[in-house]
Amino acid sequence: MEKSYRAELVGAFGCPIDENPTGVVEEAAFADKGLNYRYLTVKVNDGDLEAAMNGVRAFNMRGINLTIPHKVKVLQYLDELSEAAELIGAVNMVVNINGKLWGENTDGKGYLKSLNEVGVSPKGKNIMILGAGGVARAISVECALAGAAHITVANIVREQGEELVNLINRKTNAKADFVFWDHPLEIDPATDILSNATSVGLYPHVDQKPDINYDTVTSHMVVTDVIFNDPNSLFLQEARMRGAQTVNGLGMLVNQAAMNFKLWTGVDAPVELMTKTLRDEFHLDA
Ligand code: NDP
Repeated sequence: MEKSYRAELVGAFGCPIDENPTGVVEEAAFADKGLNYRYLTVKVNDGDLEAAMNGVRAFNMRGINLTIPHKVKVLQYLDELSEAAELIGAVNMVVNINGKLWGENTDGKGYLKSLNEVGVSPKGKNIMILGAGGVARAISVECALAGAAHITVANIVREQGEELVNLINRKTNAKADFVFWDHPLEIDPATDILSNATSVGLYPHVDQKPDINYDTVTSHMVVTDVIFNDPNSLFLQEARMRGAQTVNGLGMLVNQAAMNFKLWTGVDAPVELMTKTLRDEFHLDA
């Protein structure tokens, strides 16, 4: 084959985006697999998404990640959606398949994989989700599709939380309930998996933790956090002090990046290398 001087382009559109480490992780994986791909971390302001998505088509980009505030608004610029993305109502990644833009949501799938890696399955479990934003929706829908028995959604805004609960009850086999979160939250002792899907505790606010009564967390619970920076969040520290098994947000981040890599390139991702790259980037011990 003749030499090609053209790199395949992927990347991320978001605002804020400067502190998103995904590019370092994907670039390390491309280099490891000898793929001539470039990952561009691009600041796209709210209001400029249509122009940016036209750019994806015009530049024949292989795909793109979407992050705050574009995950829902991007739907109108896509040609097709995966079943899960359609249910969730948001996408975090797009693949350009011969000019057709296909949207998928790998946030919840990455979360499920990080649970599976420590031997935990949502099947038949009682799950409590804190928050009802984009990531909470992705996690709840994927847990429901994976056979969760019951999902409780706690949120500080009633409308958003109730909408998510209605979606789970209408479109999946799981049963869901809403809890209005206006006081320190008591965790039901029947909870198997407690998941923080709020943005509370995200760097630089590492001194903050969700407002729950931590003495209601018990040692039989698996407690997970979507926060990846700091991976040793106060929320997880409190849960560990009560003897709970904990799972931080790094696994979810790496696993969704690995799924995106595979969907763009067709090549299995070097997950261990991607994990190490992310940990090095955050100066975490091996
Ligand atoms: P959203 O803004 O869509 O949702 C945030 C949620 O947190 C909302 O339900 C919001 O409630 C709730 N919330 C905010 N502040 C508080 C508070 N003080 N107390 C209780 N609830 C609160 O964000 P995303 O869902 O997109 O992202 C959530 C987090 O997940 C972010 O920190 C992000 O960094 C992280 N993330 C991690 C990934 C990973 O791979 N580990 C991947 C993607 C994101 P309301 O809106 O009702 O006010």
